[in-house]
Amino acid sequence: MGRLEGKVCVVTAAAQGMGRASVLAFAEEGAIVYASDINLEKLKEIEKPGSIFVSKLDVTDRAAIDKYVATLPNVDVLFNVAGIVITGSVLDCTDKEWDLTMNVNVKSMFHMIQTILPKMLEAGKGSIINMSSVASNRLGVYLRCVYQTSKAAVTGLTKSVAADYIKEGIRCNCIQPGTIDTPSLNARIASNAKMDPIESKKMFEARTPAKRFGTAEEVAKLAVYLASDESVYVTGGEHVIDGGWSLI
Ligand code: NAD
Repeated sequence: MGRLEGKVCVVTAAAQGMGRASVLAFAEEGAIVYASDINLEKLKEIEKPGSIFVSKLDVTDRAAIDKYVATLPNVDVLFNVAGIVITGSVLDCTDKEWDLTMNVNVKSMFHMIQTILPKMLEAGKGSIINMSSVASNRLGVYLRCVYQTSKAAVTGLTKSVAADYIKEGIRCNCIQPGTIDTPSLNARIASNAKMDPIESKKMFEARTPAKRFGTAEEVAKLAVYLASDESVYVTGGEHVIDGGWSLI
């Protein structure tokens, strides 16, 4: 029997990277997964009748979230993955970049939780997982001002939900990955005008004691644990998965 047998899991930003790997890992463990993303075409690659249901959903659109959640059955697990990276210092950051990052990275999670939590409360159980980062309350990373501000807020939201709903059987944890090999990371490396992509990759690897990037599948395994009843006594946690980066 799979570790998530019979559980209904909702995953945002699931077309690529850690969202996609988590959907596949959840389904592999017997869950019924409702996967969404703004990129429906790519998301359709992982659609699987009776197991993985895919939908287009922009998590910055509150009305669309309400409509989407209304179609869902009881939800056991919500994995809020959506997030974007805009680089730069506090002096570089524009109001537009600040608002966009906060909307995609934090407000989306607030809205997803606010719409799905009532279903969990009705069932008396649920596990919410939010994607934070070590670039957050944990580490001060060079030129990541608005990004790490948003990811620190994700940690705060996680602890707040954990504290408020533990008595009702709801758990809420966040994952703080280090540098993970995903399409957006590779795109950032390729588009860095100031550094050759090979040098840039070496620089990212050098800051990690494990001397390599993490994989989306490694993070998905942590998500399976937090989604499953194996972690039933675990809530409010900041689960670091970073090859030792935050140790230095
Ligand atoms: P990715 O960045 O490669 O893919 C992100 C997905 O999000 C894409 O499929 C995209 O279409 C979708 N998306 C973007 N805006 C959306 C929106 N408004 N609504 C719905 N979907 C939207 O994936 P990744 O690198 O695995 O990152 C996933 C999460 O992990 C993000 O929150 C990111 O900040 C966080 N994270 C990434 C790393 C890393 O090194 N890759 C490290 C720490 C944290």
